[in-house]
Amino acid sequence: MAIVDDLSEARAVLGDLVAGAGRVVVFTGAGISTESGIPDFRSPGGIWSQREPVYYDDFLASEEARLEDWHRRFDMRRLLETARPNAAHRAIAGLIKSGIASHVITQNIDGLHQRSGVPDDRLIELHGNATTAGCLDCGAPMTLDEARVELEASGHAPRCFSCGGLVKARVISFGQPMPVREMERAEIATGDCDLFVAVGSSLVVYPAAGFPLAAKRNGATLVIVNRDPTEQDQVADYVLRGAIGPIFEPLSVGEA
Ligand code: NAD
Ligand code: ZN
Repeated sequence: MAIVDDLSEARAVLGDLVAGAGRVVVFTGAGISTESGIPDFRSPGGIWSQREPVYYDDFLASEEARLEDWHRRFDMRRLLETARPNAAHRAIAGLIKSGIASHVITQNIDGLHQRSGVPDDRLIELHGNATTAGCLDCGAPMTLDEARVELEASGHAPRCFSCGGLVKARVISFGQPMPVREMERAEIATGDCDLFVAVGSSLVVYPAAGFPLAAKRNGATLVIVNRDPTEQDQVADYVLRGAIGPIFEPLSVGEA
């Protein structure tokens, strides 16, 4: 394992690895979006570090937990709508566009990869997307605007217009089963790459954090780009330590 903490060296290592790779998969976590103004999960001061998450079982069991979850969704919405993709999102979209990267696997729920131009068939959102909602029973969609109107009119957590089931933001909460199709897509993409780049994740949330390990087991080169040490630095081939935007910026310029 090589740790690189000098910016120009990190840029050179990333550029060389990408240029020499056959097929790249990029895996992202909350750290890629902090430079877009969205706090991450574990750094001090992050909005999640101040409040316990609402667990899936509590959402199912308790109206109070559902209302708390909805209020947090509405609060976060403003933040997500005003955030803009940064240099790293743009560089990664460029790698997809040029065919160098096959897929982006993300733990993020902020929708910034879509907005930077990664098409749906190249994007795997393991933890869903906070910009929409849906019925947990029949899957019928509900917009956040509709959910808000329902909640404000009734004082209760919104219920499905078709079947009366519980409606929830389309994110995977702690304790909620992972989406089967997205997990399958991520497994296939991981198995097919020869360079796996894990960006902005502390690599502690499983099963998502299993993908870098699986890529390495399959013989891919594993690169971790992150400011702080991660759980998997020891198994990585390269650890590029520093701010994500600046490390990716030259790739972004190259793709513009
Ligand atoms: P995490 O908060 O556990 O780890 C983020 C890592 O990124 C940290 O190690 C931190 O050092 C690093 N980092 C932050 N800003 C950086 C920067 N500018 N440059 C370099 N490194 C930087 O995040 P995680 O591993 O993705 O796990 C958090 C979970 O919470 C995920 O499952 C995700 O679904 C959810 N979440 C999503 C968002 C989002 O959608 N943007 C935000 C917070 C949490
Ligand atoms: Zn329904």
